Amino acid sequence: MAHTLREHLADSPLPRLEAQLLWRQVLGVSRAWLIAHDTDPLDAAQEAAYRALETRRLAGEPMAYILGRREFWGRDFRVTPDVLIPRPDTEALVECGLQAIAGLPSPRVLDLGTGSGIVAVSIALDRPDARVRATDCSPAALAVAEMNARALGATLLFSLGNWYDTQLDSGRYDLIVSNPPYIDSQDLHLAQGDLRFEPRGALTDGADGLDALRCIVRGAADHLRPGGALCVEHGWDQAAAVRGLFQSEGFSDAASQRDLAGIERVTWGRLAA
Ligand code: GLN
Repeated sequence: MAHTLREHLADSPLPRLEAQLLWRQVLGVSRAWLIAHDTDPLDAAQEAAYRALETRRLAGEPMAYILGRREFWGRDFRVTPDVLIPRPDTEALVECGLQAIAGLPSPRVLDLGTGSGIVAVSIALDRPDARVRATDCSPAALAVAEMNARALGATLLFSLGNWYDTQLDSGRYDLIVSNPPYIDSQDLHLAQGDLRFEPRGALTDGADGLDALRCIVRGAADHLRPGGALCVEHGWDQAAAVRGLFQSEGFSDAASQRDLAGIERVTWGRLAA
């Protein structure tokens, strides 16, 4: 006998919210529809489709990859296993970047290691006068970023390459932003939870977690105009080290900003004029 949604939700080994999201994915319906129709019988094909998603989730696969999307800065972004899953922490980076170019007409912006494109696309949509270039060393990630830019109506420039070793624009940038891999390669979290499924190269630099940040901060002076800003995301215990890097590379006023959890998550500074 066919079961209803209500029976399925009551029986599911998953948290209710996750089971509801998977059902919405299978049925292609809103949350309101799901609640209003929870006594409708489900057919065998729908139940089989749900089971397939439930099995993936029970094996630990992140919800964002199963659903193929995640919300960030108020917009819906497509995500695939080729890119890091957007984190709310990274909204602090967008906020910092937008503040750094506030009041500056037609700013030139460079996003290094764009992944799904959340930072570059968010800045480009909030500042339609900005000229934003997004780079990544992964062609697959760049394809996801391009798909997001297109779907959300953002006009960006894209280039494939490793940090500054890529096609850049002539002239200097007003803002460089980056959320690089910053987890220490020995960090046990890499073997836990969602991180097991994310691209390793987006999470860790394969060294102490500061390698990519060093490269980004060291190269910034060659690509920023005097007074231009650099904003980078980093780990919970890296703020002092990153401020030190900024200071030794010509940024006199490096400061860190906290994320929603109160952790110093972003460091920024302006290149001395
Ligand atoms: N914030 C992520 C985490 O700690 C890491 C992202 C990154 O390395 N850029 O899970």
